Amino acid sequence: MTATPAWPPKSTPRLFVDRELAVGAEVPLDYPEVRYFFSVLRLKEGDPVRLFDNRTGEYIARLGAIASGRSSARIESLLQPRELTPDLWLCASPIQRDNFALVAEKACELGVRKFVPVEMRRSQVRQINATRLVKRMIEAAEQCERTALPEVEPLVRLEKLLSEWPSDRMLFFCDERGGDPAPAAMAAHPGPAAILIGPEGGFDDSENAAIRALPQAVPVSLGPRILRAETAAISAVTLWMGTVGDWA
Ligand code: SAM
Repeated sequence: MTATPAWPPKSTPRLFVDRELAVGAEVPLDYPEVRYFFSVLRLKEGDPVRLFDNRTGEYIARLGAIASGRSSARIESLLQPRELTPDLWLCASPIQRDNFALVAEKACELGVRKFVPVEMRRSQVRQINATRLVKRMIEAAEQCERTALPEVEPLVRLEKLLSEWPSDRMLFFCDERGGDPAPAAMAAHPGPAAILIGPEGGFDDSENAAIRALPQAVPVSLGPRILRAETAAISAVTLWMGTVGDWA
């Protein structure tokens, strides 16, 4: 007996729309969405699409008619509710442009809940383009089938971050000078967590001491080699997800 094919087929286009969706609603599409569906994908009225809103979940919808560059989508049914994201923050110094956008993209794919750019004394980059980071995360979410986008915080100085650190959240301080082996340390401290990654030049002495003074901080090593900041960020998040995250 042949198995009934899954619905909707994996090939159904999937797009993030930044407005709340609900079954039965007629959702107007903005110009980029219309152009993507009708010009780029050459879809037509009545074709199915998958829409998610980072608020309620992901839905199957049907494209409406297109007229003078305008169209809409009728929401037919809920495919899945918005995911419960693993409670992990990634706190990292901005680094050279493309690499920081890469870190944002991988943080989204790997399931991070919040992305916190942190300015440190040796940060060579002292501003972020949040719009660009969010765009990379949206593209990543559309591709990896996430229904939630990480929150992106404004750039914050390390001192302020530490002074306001939540008492119930562990801080895995990736210290290039050494620390506990990261997998064991993460396994020993399940629960709300954050990972802290320094800039290309690392943490200076006073920053290192201030972080270690935080009761919630656990200095961890990512092995005997000095990793590039983006490698360290991706590796540490992967370790956490595989140890206590939603891969376990
Ligand atoms: N300039 C620093 C040095 O030579 O020691 C290296 C900084 S590294 C390029 C950037 C960040 O990645 C570090 O601040 C740290 O957070 C993380 N990192 C890199 N390698 C690591 C390791 N083996 N263990 C823990 N953290 C590491």
